[in-house]
Amino acid sequence: MADATPTSIDGVTSLYRRFRPGRFAELRGQDHVVRALQGAVRHDRVSHAYLFSGPRGTGKTTAARILAKALNCEHPVDGDACNKCASCVAITRGSSLDVIELDAASNNGVDDIREITAGAWHGTPGRWKVYIFDEVHQLSKAASAALLKTLEEPPQHVVFVLATTDPHKVPPTIRSRTQHLEFRLLGGDTLSSLLHDVQGAAGLMADDATIEAAVRLGRGSARDALSALDQLIATGSISEAQPEFDGLFHALVHADAVEALKSLAVLTREGWDPEQLAESFAAEVRQVFLLQVAPEVADAVDADRDRLIGWGSQLGLPRTVRILETVGRAMREMKSAPEKIVMLEVAMVRLVKPELDSTYEALDERLTRLERDGARQSAPAPAPPPSPVLRPIGTTTRPAPAPIVVVVPDAPAASEPATSESVTAFTSGESELDLDDVRSRFVERVIPRTSRSAQLLLKAAHVSALDGQRLTIALPSEEMRQNTELIAQGLRSAMEHEFKSPLQIQWTVDPTLATETPAPALRASASRRPAVNEASHASEETSIVVESAAGHLITEIFPGAKEI
Ligand SMILES: [Zn+2]
Repeated sequence: MADATPTSIDGVTSLYRRFRPGRFAELRGQDHVVRALQGAVRHDRVSHAYLFSGPRGTGKTTAARILAKALNCEHPVDGDACNKCASCVAITRGSSLDVIELDAASNNGVDDIREITAGAWHGTPGRWKVYIFDEVHQLSKAASAALLKTLEEPPQHVVFVLATTDPHKVPPTIRSRTQHLEFRLLGGDTLSSLLHDVQGAAGLMADDATIEAAVRLGRGSARDALSALDQLIATGSISEAQPEFDGLFHALVHADAVEALKSLAVLTREGWDPEQLAESFAAEVRQVFLLQVAPEVADAVDADRDRLIGWGSQLGLPRTVRILETVGRAMREMKSAPEKIVMLEVAMVRLVKPELDSTYEALDERLTRLERDGARQSAPAPAPPPSPVLRPIGTTTRPAPAPIVVVVPDAPAASEPATSESVTAFTSGESELDLDDVRSRFVERVIPRTSRSAQLLLKAAHVSALDGQRLTIALPSEEMRQNTELIAQGLRSAMEHEFKSPLQIQWTVDPTLATETPAPALRASASRRPAVNEASHASEETSIVVESAAGHLITEIFPGAKEI
């Protein structure tokens, strides 16, 4: 398992490099990927192009190298590499001529691609050449076009592995020519057993608390967890390893804009990069959210868990959701913003000063605050109201049953969602599943196996197409589609359990689904909906789902509980 070649700057080989998996058998937490790749090698059905997508540190390039090893191994075992023969060793060392790696983030020009793909035609007979393009979504337009040309007529015995953290940014023309395999974040148990094994193999003296801390800091990434373990053993402290968000939470709870900006400034001064900050904060808020709606799927532990439960109870669910959505939006905006920290600052100010924000959630929060302050009676009656009134949980005046207003967006002209056309099959003939069968099993057997928060989202979903191994699931709104990240892992396990097949899930948005909402009575109230601007549509629908979800959850989690 270990190789001692690469070393880090300080001369000590990092755990991550030392214990990088060298064979499919050693790759953890990506069983569906291993099955697909090892099976392809074993049956000589390797695709010419793969798209590996998934968060950083989940094993994409490692899997690509293992694939290269398995293809060229002198003594392969059941489609897996031996990791000992000359070819395997050369690939591990990075000296093999059969593996060409390119980081598209730094070599994104058309010349880089032309030079590399030109070499693809001059392979050694009988050997496989594997091209690994990391962060392929960062290729320039011209470079993508050059790559596409090669993918259209791939040379024999050449495999392209395109790795990306952001598959939606890969041009669809390229995506459709690849077999797409999604890498997942590793579960706490998987990471924990990995770290225990590594520390045993490395003869380290890490106690359980240290390993637990490293698992937490890893946030699902094997690379990050192992680096955290390295750091923890070296420094004995975790305080430097993660940003401290309590100041920010405090500011959000007390709606204090100055404190929020000060907290951000402190974090930036400590050297945290804005994108990293946003990502870590979103991860923490996500835990706050999960601890409120589905504590069993939250992975925060011990003191951290108590701390986040505390912030959750002070913020309440609607505000937590709003923070999650606002920070998520800021993260997307940051990608193209020159001054990234500004996006985060704006997000914080929006959160504490909802009156500056025109989104529906902000409006809802303003109403909640008015109600909370008992100022509702004195507030001028909105006539006509700017948008349907959403009753927040925990308000004192809620009559029963809860008046949930469902928004029906204007039906689009076409009855078929346009998005379904963008789905392109990459493979076929491997599956004997048929759409109706999948649809009913999805509703009857898959959804019930998912977490409660996933079920609430999936109840609004519709299985719209099955193309080879790709299942298309439509949701009523873009905001809901974006929330699928939160439930992806659980859903995939449930799907795999049911279908015993690595089905890929493609999410699309079909606004017509929103018209199929529960009760006609609810729909009727929508006709009274005053015109609101397009931009707020999507978030309205989400808020409503979340709101009604929260209502369900309260009675589900605390049977017999009454909302007062
Ligand atoms: Zn070998």
